[in-house]
Amino acid sequence: MRKTKMMRLFFLFGLVFLVLTGCKGNSLAEEDILKRSKETNEIIWGVKYDTRLFGMMDIESQSVKGFDIDIAKAITKKILGKAGKAEFVEVTSKTRIPLLKNGNIDAIIATMTITDERKKQVDFSSVYFDAGQSLLVKKGSPIKSIKDLNADTTVLAVKGSTSAANIRKQAPDAKILELENYAEGFTALQSGQGDAMTTDNAILLGMADENPEYELAGGTFTEEPYGIAINKGQKNFLNAVNKALEEMVEDGTYNKIYEKWFPDTNQGKID
Ligand code: GLU
Repeated sequence: MRKTKMMRLFFLFGLVFLVLTGCKGNSLAEEDILKRSKETNEIIWGVKYDTRLFGMMDIESQSVKGFDIDIAKAITKKILGKAGKAEFVEVTSKTRIPLLKNGNIDAIIATMTITDERKKQVDFSSVYFDAGQSLLVKKGSPIKSIKDLNADTTVLAVKGSTSAANIRKQAPDAKILELENYAEGFTALQSGQGDAMTTDNAILLGMADENPEYELAGGTFTEEPYGIAINKGQKNFLNAVNKALEEMVEDGTYNKIYEKWFPDTNQGKID
């Protein structure tokens, strides 16, 4: 009888111990991402799957391709060595910060603008691409620039993007329709649910390039410097990412990747 009581007590203590240490050991804030990535030999990147030129799922090869993807792969190799693996997880503008904060991904490299508002939640690497917000319209559209957006026009934007917030400020009279991602946004434009679509010029150029009946209207009306977002408290990892980026610019890796995706322009390139 006494033996069973003792065993129960042991069991109870064991359980309490497990709960306490278990919670502590797995805490995201305490995990050193750089250390863990060196142990597992992989870095998990949150990337776009629907954004041509930056991160696009290629159905045939079942792999995601783009400028962001190649930059992520190159950084991974710089940090982990040749055998280091870059894993990719799909994010949208709306889901990227929650996925990072929940620990589903180690970093975001997904056409993401560095803003003061976002800096309250995450840390950013140095700038790796310079974009600016613009408009995409069907050729022949009466919308020639942001000045033509009025109460009779509907502009399509994507939830969680700076573009949605900016357009509200810069064209306060226009109707704004917010979609889940860029694939949905462009489909909505094609089906006439909006008169223009707004986001970064580089993203819109990717759409216009594939759909020649659409064009960019007016120039850019914001500055959208792209950075890699990392959870706060991960200074070792952030420094490693910045060091890798710096080396890539110096040794020509950055230029090679840039020219692969943007062969006919210098727009957005950092120096
Ligand atoms: N660069 C802008 C942003 O970070 C628009 C592109 C995007 O939605 O990812 O919000």
